[in-house]
Amino acid sequence: MTDGTAAEARARAERLRANIRRFCVERMPAALLSKSARHQVLDKADYLQWMKLLEQQGWGVGHWPEAYGGAGWSTLERFAFEDELARHGCPWVIPFGVKYVGPVIYTYGSEAQKQRFLPRIVSSEDFWAQGYSEPGAGSDLAALRTEAVRDGDHYRVSGQKVWTTYAQWADWLFCLVRTNRDVRPQDGISFLLIDMRSPGITVKPIATMDGYHHVNEVWLDDVRVPVDNLVGEEGAGWTYAKFLLRNERTAGAMVGMVQHALARLKALAAPTPALRARIGELALRAFALEECAYQAMEAMLEGRENGAEASLIKLRGTELYQEVAEALVEGLGPAGIAWDAAALHRADAPPLGPDDAGGIVKDHFYNRAATIFGGSSEVQRNILAKAVLGL
Ligand SMILES: Cc1cc2nc3c(=O)[nH]c(=O)nc-3n(C[C@H](O)[C@H](O)[C@H](O)COP(=O)(O)OP(=O)(O)OC[C@H]3O[C@@H](n4cnc5c(N)ncnc54)[C@H](O)[C@@H]3O)c2cc1C
Repeated sequence: MTDGTAAEARARAERLRANIRRFCVERMPAALLSKSARHQVLDKADYLQWMKLLEQQGWGVGHWPEAYGGAGWSTLERFAFEDELARHGCPWVIPFGVKYVGPVIYTYGSEAQKQRFLPRIVSSEDFWAQGYSEPGAGSDLAALRTEAVRDGDHYRVSGQKVWTTYAQWADWLFCLVRTNRDVRPQDGISFLLIDMRSPGITVKPIATMDGYHHVNEVWLDDVRVPVDNLVGEEGAGWTYAKFLLRNERTAGAMVGMVQHALARLKALAAPTPALRARIGELALRAFALEECAYQAMEAMLEGRENGAEASLIKLRGTELYQEVAEALVEGLGPAGIAWDAAALHRADAPPLGPDDAGGIVKDHFYNRAATIFGGSSEVQRNILAKAVLGL
């Protein structure tokens, strides 16, 4: 990238940031913003409203190529989008359709799959879930055992997925299945698109320590899936799975979430001198994280990336986010034990204590998982050891 085009990319990213700031003030429904910024519980209707709003702005799939309804954003614009939304406390952009399976379909899918699925992802008509992990196949994903056996123009799929986020809301599951046991584990995996209304699918909730229903077990018992729903080639699913995982750890959301939580921490009533010193240290680390993200993007734009940047940001970002959340809970003092599950669902619920503790505590509990999902911290350290230290 030349200096000129880099400057243009930066200018476009800044314009996008300004538009998002204006959107947050002028167009963002107050109830939705309040719920999200206070870390209350968002239900499916809230998320659909949110995705619709983004679509209306032309931002829902901004990072997709224009041919498929996107805005062809650069890496910098994509970062700016996620970062700015998170800084304002906006809801999470649910990634399963727009960030994960959509790009797999437009990169590796058939023409028929593109026409059938992409418009419905853009318009949020279809809600997607990710069926990768299984008991015994999380970090070691290639060990997955859910089996798909060809039967004429269908596959018959049986097995169990676990930790499937929002499977209870999903219309579709993109699913890694084993289609061949006689080859290297990675070479026997295929990528299937499964209609969640198919007979033989059972979704069982898993309660997380914040007391809410985010994740599930998904049981598949002789589920018939048309061969037309196979993405790309049979046995090549590992390639598509890895392509998708590269999109899983995007830096913008991480940096913005840390900054938003830090702003809440700074706003805590009467922090003690010790807490003030801790805030200073966390703020410095947030600054380092942001710089690191920008360096990673520059490396990406100039083709200098070593493959470890995303792991470094995921590792540092999630650990820092957890520490800021912990400081927030400790900073609340006795108010930190406030808990009112019902209040966490209503945007008009009065704040729990002077610092509105409910959402902070809930967020703290849920985000213990942030250093596990999307690749655990230990696994990220292994990647860094190999790519950076050559170990
Ligand atoms: C809240 C939440 C939401 C999730 N949502 C989804 C989803 O929507 N779809 C989906 O498919 N999955 C989802 N996951 C699953 C997630 O991707 C896995 O939990 C993750 O990959 C870790 O796998 P595991 O739980 O099987 O743990 P394991 O892989 O069994 O790991 C157990 C422990 O061993 C460590 N470990 C494992 N391998 C190594 C190694 N080589 N070196 C050093 N240490 C190692 C890990 O770091 C961890 O501490 C979700 C998980 C959570 C907690």
